[in-house]
Amino acid sequence: MSDAALEVEELHAGYGDVAVLRGVSLSVAAGAITCIIGSNGAGKTTLLRAVSGLVSARAGRVRAAGQDLTNAGPEAMVRAGVVHVPEGRRLFAAMSVRDNLLMGAYLRRDQAAIRRDLERVYETFPRLAERRHQDASTLSGGEQQMCAIGRGIMADPRVLMIDELSLGLAPAAVDLLMDALRAINAAGVAILLVEQDVMAALDVAHAGYILDRGSVVGAGSSAALAADPMIREAYLGAV
Ligand code: ATP
Repeated sequence: MSDAALEVEELHAGYGDVAVLRGVSLSVAAGAITCIIGSNGAGKTTLLRAVSGLVSARAGRVRAAGQDLTNAGPEAMVRAGVVHVPEGRRLFAAMSVRDNLLMGAYLRRDQAAIRRDLERVYETFPRLAERRHQDASTLSGGEQQMCAIGRGIMADPRVLMIDELSLGLAPAAVDLLMDALRAINAAGVAILLVEQDVMAALDVAHAGYILDRGSVVGAGSSAALAADPMIREAYLGAV
């Protein structure tokens, strides 16, 4: 597909003897928000880790920016514009918000562009601008997630992969973050969102994939997925 920002083809990955991904194929359209939903242990985190080079692909392909980047490693993925915001945020607790954000730009050299993107992050998340000199450890959960996403933006991504955006956050914080995702996407960044809050994910995303025990078992527009009786029963607790 020519308009894909990221393509995953028949990807297999796992840990030791354990096969987690069993031939996953998906496509993240440039300019869209795509979500991956699935129950605990379905392999969602492993999928993001295999794409970003933190776990080796045992078979299959990962393509981005017109290149085959299968097992190219985390740094090559970031250079190609595929940036991972990990589950749990993984901020540097004893560093300031600003310094955490600047860590995202560690592969970049254009200081003017870095300064411009830092201002953009502060415009997207005014709360981070107010707290730029505070240690990350003093942030609320929602603010930490803003900082983790902001750090991802500082890498100048084409595709931002976000693992469990809403985990442990209050509904108001989730709403704010979802609005920020829409704005980031509208500015031209494709987003691949792993989310356990299926309703919130289908609300923000244009399209989605259902992952079950390491395989894609459903895919479609968010509207089609949200209307599918099987998905409503399995993931939305409705019939
Ligand atoms: P969750 O939402 O619970 O994080 P998930 O869909 O993201 O679920 P993964 O975290 O990718 O799922 O885990 C998929 C499977 O891989 C699980 O059975 C898990 O126990 C196993 N697994 C994950 N990380 C490791 C690891 N480092 N070593 C061994 N097995 C692992």
